[in-house]
Amino acid sequence: MVVGGGLAGLSAALSCADGGADVLLLERKPRLGGATWSFRRNGLSFDNGQHVYMRCCTAYRRFLERIGSAGDAPLQERLAIPVVRPTGGDAPAVSWIRRNDLPAPLQLGSSLATYAHLGVADRLRLGRAVLAIRRLHLSDPALDTETFGSFLARHGQSPAAIERLWDLITLPTVNLRAAEASLALAAKVFQTGLLTEPDAADLGWARVPLSTLHAERAEQVLRSSGTTVHRSAKVSAVRYDDSSAGTGSGPSLVATGVVVDGETVEADAVVLAVPHDVAEELLPRGQRGARADVGSAADLGRSPIVDVHVVYDRTVLGYDVAAAVGSPVQYVFDTTASSGLDPADGQCVAVSISGADAEHGERPEVLVERYTRAIAQLFPAARDAKVVDAVVSREHAATFRGIPGTAVLRPRPATEVAGLFLAGAWTDTGWPATMEGAVRSGVAAAALALRTAGNERGGPRVPGGLERPEEVDA
Ligand SMILES: Cc1cc2nc3c(=O)[nH]c(=O)nc-3n(C[C@H](O)[C@H](O)[C@H](O)COP(=O)(O)OP(=O)(O)OC[C@H]3O[C@@H](n4cnc5c(N)ncnc54)[C@H](O)[C@@H]3O)c2cc1C
Repeated sequence: MVVGGGLAGLSAALSCADGGADVLLLERKPRLGGATWSFRRNGLSFDNGQHVYMRCCTAYRRFLERIGSAGDAPLQERLAIPVVRPTGGDAPAVSWIRRNDLPAPLQLGSSLATYAHLGVADRLRLGRAVLAIRRLHLSDPALDTETFGSFLARHGQSPAAIERLWDLITLPTVNLRAAEASLALAAKVFQTGLLTEPDAADLGWARVPLSTLHAERAEQVLRSSGTTVHRSAKVSAVRYDDSSAGTGSGPSLVATGVVVDGETVEADAVVLAVPHDVAEELLPRGQRGARADVGSAADLGRSPIVDVHVVYDRTVLGYDVAAAVGSPVQYVFDTTASSGLDPADGQCVAVSISGADAEHGERPEVLVERYTRAIAQLFPAARDAKVVDAVVSREHAATFRGIPGTAVLRPRPATEVAGLFLAGAWTDTGWPATMEGAVRSGVAAAALALRTAGNERGGPRVPGGLERPEEVDA
């Protein structure tokens, strides 16, 4: 049984079904997809927030392949992002971050050496921080005691370099600025995305609505593989049995099923793929999370993301995606294809704002005014364009708050309860709260659940040793 139909739950259910189990997926909402979803407005489709992945997100890419969606979220052939800065005139300053043919970490060397938004001295000092990040050991717990910002400052990075370069990558990946982000999470992103394989940071994103890309396709594949999917099915409790519990040092509780709509539904194994605050409520008191000694997963906090979607009567943005500095805009995407708007009728753009604590409480009209003005400063074609429609989407708990001290709060998939496993982007994946982390966690929990169910019923068997989602690739 899998509780929660976000990416972690969908991939857990798929892995269990592929492993030969009879799977029941229970999702509280009337739709699947969790934190990735779309809504309709005036005949067009808008996503709750722009979702981007990198070529190094191997588990997420396998998930897309498995559900037949890879072709609808293509990767760039090679990383190329224009970074635009308003100049006050008709010609904003544009400097490209794109990779060349050299091996990592030199693939961005030429872009960074000529990066026009930093002075020469700042550019010369970038290499020092790159080398220092490369030397970090991701398994070192000390990395989670410091912010990425203070690490960068210690390695010669000026406030301008942090704002105009480092934050461009930290914000969309850790969902916080470097000043707040844990060095552990930022180091994971930079080492995996930029310092190992040269093509690891090539970007991909959906050209169809997220609900189609994930929820609808995954549900089709799940149903055709024999999985029972119940939407609008809120799990209110997990059922535990202590009479058949293991002896000696083994678990003292066994999960036997869950309660939905007042009814108990039994299962050989349960994967809880719900947000961290819900998981904490469903775990038995005294056994909440694997690291209850240092705090609980409920302490992981939250970080918001806000998107401002604008429909123009003409093309205003000449790029698929652009980043901005010296502007309230962080990233802006051409979402015309996924919105369903005919390009002959105009252009849809989505401004994505990560770490959006300040923007989250603002009134929609204030945000629309601020961001349409900012778009006009960055992209002169927008100055004469008419805004046909605009809508703001906000997610106050888009991700957990990846500050120092959070690593120990993220539990492994195995709990102290036999037959009960945890999945979710917030669990101990080594990744920030991302689609990649969610899928990895689901696959790892499924492997453990299959082992339990297989032992119970002599059914499916999987290899042992999967302690952490990071090991799934093996
Ligand atoms: C606006 C936004 C932008 C983002 N951008 C990116 C990005 O660019 N790149 C990236 O990699 N990641 C991004 N993320 C993060 C990414 O979407 C999440 O990390 C990931 O989707 C989380 O998946 P999950 O399955 O762990 O959790 P969720 O998606 O939260 O799924 C949990 C599910 O459990 C269900 N549930 C809760 N309680 C119960 C219950 N009692 N019974 C049954 N079901 C229950 C919920 O309804 C939900 O469907 C973004 C997130 C947001 C919100």
